[in-house]
Amino acid sequence: MEKFNIAIDGPAGAGKSTIARLVASALGFVYIDTGAMYRAVTWKIMDKGLQPDQTGDMIALTKQMDIQLTPGEAGQNVFVDGYDVTGLIRTAEVTGYVSFVSSIAEIRQVLTRKQKEMAASMGVVMDGRDIGSHVLPDAEVKVFLTASVLVRAERRLKEIEHTQPGITLEQLMHDIATRDRMDEQRDASPLVQAPDAILVDTTSMTIPEVVDRILELCASRVGGGK
Ligand code: C5P
Repeated sequence: MEKFNIAIDGPAGAGKSTIARLVASALGFVYIDTGAMYRAVTWKIMDKGLQPDQTGDMIALTKQMDIQLTPGEAGQNVFVDGYDVTGLIRTAEVTGYVSFVSSIAEIRQVLTRKQKEMAASMGVVMDGRDIGSHVLPDAEVKVFLTASVLVRAERRLKEIEHTQPGITLEQLMHDIATRDRMDEQRDASPLVQAPDAILVDTTSMTIPEVVDRILELCASRVGGGK
């Protein structure tokens, strides 16, 4: 099978990372979680104590940063300047600030360049918000993964209720809807379904069903997968 690229976009909590990882492993492709890259930049900005009006400093910091993604047991391990931030980028604080940081056009340019480089030499499954529309417009397979806000919040609650016992379904629904709105409404490469992306609504689908659907799409588009 020839090298090809798969772009998986969609709103917060649609299951993109889980699905993208499984599709990549089924095809022997590399999985790239671009949300982790925006989270890594956000973590570094917060760690340095930069304030929201210091966007010039945020951009300069992003340009100097080294971000490495390596395959890990439970997803992708993320290193910033050699420091393991895998757990640190998933805190509520980073999640609450990442949509602001990712609305800064110059920060997007820096990360988009890195993402294009990663996909140039190997077959990748890349997930994010602007992959099919902006980062990899020529990707052979493009999927827009979504689900109702309620189902996305319920799935997220199951994931985090042990580590964040006070969290409620209502709070998660509010947080997810707020993040979606910010990601959809920003000027720089907003969250959007690319015109040639296939919509997959996972509200009533299981994980294996979604993976199979994407592998079928690969087979029909490029003769890969099933
Ligand atoms: O995928 P995840 O939910 O970890 O992404 C975190 C945030 O990173 C998103 O809410 C969005 O603001 C930003 N992001 C982005 N473009 C991407 C991937 C993520 O703006 N390609």
